[in-house]
Amino acid sequence: MKVMISVDIEGIAGIAHWDEALKPRDEYPAFRDLMTDEAIAACQGARAAGATEIFLRDAHQTARNLDISRLPEGVRVIRGWSGHPFKMLQELDESFDAVAMVGWHGAARDGGNPLSHTMTGRFADITLNDEPLSEYGLHARLAASVGVPVVFLSGDAAICAEARGINPAINTVETKVGRGASVVTLVPRDACARIEAGVASALATPRTDHAMPVAQAHRLDLRFPHHELAYQKSFYPGARLVAPDTIRVEADTIFEIARALCFM
Ligand SMILES: [Zn+2]
Repeated sequence: MKVMISVDIEGIAGIAHWDEALKPRDEYPAFRDLMTDEAIAACQGARAAGATEIFLRDAHQTARNLDISRLPEGVRVIRGWSGHPFKMLQELDESFDAVAMVGWHGAARDGGNPLSHTMTGRFADITLNDEPLSEYGLHARLAASVGVPVVFLSGDAAICAEARGINPAINTVETKVGRGASVVTLVPRDACARIEAGVASALATPRTDHAMPVAQAHRLDLRFPHHELAYQKSFYPGARLVAPDTIRVEADTIFEIARALCFM
């Protein structure tokens, strides 16, 4: 069994402020270590379920967060950004059996996490076919486009609920609930135990149980905080201004949407 585990930081247990999430701020190293702990727990769960190949995608900010010296033997790690539109799932293809997401978070404007955002965080609003688009929503569709289900997700309660709405068979671990600028959170030890058990249980379910998001047409609307930015980005091939601060990109495939987002 070949599995990709993609790890972000804004949805890990405890984290509540950008000072804890961004290199090189003072409080970041402690949370980079907790992110590594949750990644290790997920690897252990995957191994327990029989995963023979584990690709671990470091998927936050620089994509160089995880303390790789602490990772289990045999795991392959994907670090840095290549520019490939699969971004947080770079290297995923049809040869994989499943994706697990650890530390993921609510979409731009979502109240479920003080650190809610989608991709660069520069969008005031981002929707796909009139629904808010989260990083989970984008990457679950990219995974589906190569026939791979997202079977596990841990993160804030908002993104867990969104994932269950798309795929009722997904196994989720809610690490915390956001309340304005605060969080009500599990302690890291409990989060890691639940992640290890959750990944193991998720990989034991048949992949055919998992619903995968599909659409025949994709309409991406991006609202920028400044109209000047929208005007500039409207020159991306196929993009058009639909309001002074908003552009629209329409495409048949989710890959084309992901490609456009690389240039926004
Ligand atoms: Zn992140």
